Amino acid sequence: MTEMIGRKYSITGIVQGVGFRPFVYAQAVHNHLTGWVRNTSSGVEIEINGAAQAVHAFSDALRNNPPPLSRIDRISEFPCQPDGYTQFNIIPSQPCPGEFIPISPDVTLCADCAAELVNPADRRYRYPFINCTNCGPRFTIIKDTPYDRPKTTMAGFTMCPDCQSEYENPLNRRFHAQPTACPVCGPHIWFEAAGEVLTHKEDALQTARAWLQDGKILAIKGLGGYHLACDASNPEAVAELRSRKKRSDKPFALMAYDIEHILPHCQVSSAEEQLLTSRQHPIVILNRLADSSIVKAVAPRQNTLGFMLPYTPQHLLLLEPAPGFPEVLVMTSGNLSEEPVAYMDEDAMQRLSPIADGFLLHDRPIHMRVDDSVARVFTTGPQILRRARGYAPDPIQLPAPLPSILAAGAELKNTFCLSRDQYAFLSHHIGDLENYETLLSFETGIKHYENLFHVTPQTIAVDLHPNYLATRYGIQRASEGNIPLIQVQHHHAHLAACLADNAWNSDEPVIGLIYDGTGYGTDGTIWGGEILLGGYADYQRVYHLATAPLAGGDISVRKPARMALAHLWQSGLEWDLDLAPVQALCPQERSLLRAQLENHINTPLTSSMGRLFDAAAALAGVRQEVNYEGQAAIEFEALADPDETGAYPFSIEEDKISTAPLWPAMLADIHANTPPAILSARFHNGIAALSRQLCLAIREETGCNTVALSGGVWQNQLLLDKTVTLLAESGFNTLLHKQVPANDGGLALGQLLIAANH
Ligand code: ZN
Ligand code: ZN
Ligand code: FE
Repeated sequence: MTEMIGRKYSITGIVQGVGFRPFVYAQAVHNHLTGWVRNTSSGVEIEINGAAQAVHAFSDALRNNPPPLSRIDRISEFPCQPDGYTQFNIIPSQPCPGEFIPISPDVTLCADCAAELVNPADRRYRYPFINCTNCGPRFTIIKDTPYDRPKTTMAGFTMCPDCQSEYENPLNRRFHAQPTACPVCGPHIWFEAAGEVLTHKEDALQTARAWLQDGKILAIKGLGGYHLACDASNPEAVAELRSRKKRSDKPFALMAYDIEHILPHCQVSSAEEQLLTSRQHPIVILNRLADSSIVKAVAPRQNTLGFMLPYTPQHLLLLEPAPGFPEVLVMTSGNLSEEPVAYMDEDAMQRLSPIADGFLLHDRPIHMRVDDSVARVFTTGPQILRRARGYAPDPIQLPAPLPSILAAGAELKNTFCLSRDQYAFLSHHIGDLENYETLLSFETGIKHYENLFHVTPQTIAVDLHPNYLATRYGIQRASEGNIPLIQVQHHHAHLAACLADNAWNSDEPVIGLIYDGTGYGTDGTIWGGEILLGGYADYQRVYHLATAPLAGGDISVRKPARMALAHLWQSGLEWDLDLAPVQALCPQERSLLRAQLENHINTPLTSSMGRLFDAAAALAGVRQEVNYEGQAAIEFEALADPDETGAYPFSIEEDKISTAPLWPAMLADIHANTPPAILSARFHNGIAALSRQLCLAIREETGCNTVALSGGVWQNQLLLDKTVTLLAESGFNTLLHKQVPANDGGLALGQLLIAANH
């Protein structure tokens, strides 16, 4: 008789709502083991009895072959006495007060469900809400924990006997799949126009397709909010959408049925294909092909397009290829420019009615608004530019366990962050906190995360900027709750965010090339071109761009022409009438600007790298006024000549990086009619060379060999590529953002780490 042994396992990570217990059950039965498995409020516990060889096989499968959506953070295994079980069972959950388990983000439709969707014999044939334990809505429908159907927005749908029996069968793919549904018992779609319901179910889908084919604009209720959709190859439809949405130039996201339908429009590398088809299905920024039929107005003056693939069954049905049907749809967030995306039905109807000709709706409520994520593939791997659907609320693994801290984040592209143990729960993209709607989703978002992950902040971290709404929220909560408050310098937070993103766990100082738009400095100026040396605990400002006057404040952010003239004025250079930024401003504005500069009226000083890009782009004649953040720099980057090797000079005077040599060199090129493509390349080459020079100088002084690149300017792929290449040539160890954005969307993570090390 073979000897029986016993084992106990305790597993933490993403192990609930991902088919973990059915997997354990199946493995146990397969290996003839007895015992039990149960969810606890901190993970999963297992006890097994069986032959030694079978126990080992089970253990192997657990470690090496867990279900695709699970993520095991820790697995503890202990020997125990066999307990005489006669069978293997899934037993009721064991709550442990105060503990928590991570919650899965929403997951793209899986291959099994996609196959059922198109199988006429399946009872869920063409059902737009098909899902299973491996896919479907999660975070957007969860109201509270533990994650059980009554605590989701599926609570109102009573399962039919067929769904119920799948739900209760441990060997079924839908065992305890909380959002499971079918055409008999689940949510449905319908089509509305002008307040009238026109069609239901399959007919609604066909109406929507016909309207899209006809060039109409639709509002489509999806997973985490509403999209506005139209035919991406129809110039009238795209122009109409732009004008109704009041969005001038900011690119629209696109959706195609599959990779084959993207190939006529963009280059897709295998790494990009992997990212597009990953379980997160983000919008991926791809290089546009010259002969793509996508209307230029989708992404004006850019050489990239943002594509995503269908991530819900409804998308897949909506985009089904057919003769005459649009091959690519614009799928942009359902909002008026600057407002957060709509997700509550009544609100959406009200706000989107002036934009959409018709509505494709469904009756599964969205509890949490979550935007589409945006990512790209850099030479070193994927980088996230907007972290939302599919990624949040997956925690970032911290280098070491931390106490509970709330970091409130930035003003623009806000995300907040909560820590607990070794996890940092960086929120999904909340948006720009400049209107009531977004502020509300910031505040309710924080409450929701605190509740879901059982976090009670012991410390609150905020930006130094006193007027950020996120800062004010943090200050108020700290004072009301008598919680310690830590104010964190913006660019130090960027540095720490990049370190945390790379699981940096050392006290060695790191060089931070923090190139950013705007951040509150400690000396009363606006920072943004900062070369720091430091870590989580503190930092030194080793070099910074020499300051330039931001005449009139925000108006100079909106008008790069003013920034260019301010730089020229500062360097004692003439405003020649043939210069593009001079021509862009009327004589009155120019004389007012000159008076402002000369008399220092409302001219805060800034060392911003973003504003330096604006000034250079304006001087090169590329853009004098912007309609969205970063537009001048984005268009400047897009036209750079890749073969040009010349570089504009800078000079370093003590801790200041002077642009005095830059402008005469650039003006000489302009007067020699050098094309903007060359100007752009020389400017980018100049900043990259400068970056290496500064790092070399610091290394010489301190021996520090690690460089972290953070701040919104690093979304500039050309600059990033050139700089990373030069740093590698000089043997630097370079840390880049991966899981969290280099822009202010990653700031809260840095604030949190700094507060923890305070
Ligand atoms: Zn599935
Ligand atoms: Zn059913
Ligand atoms: Fe920033």
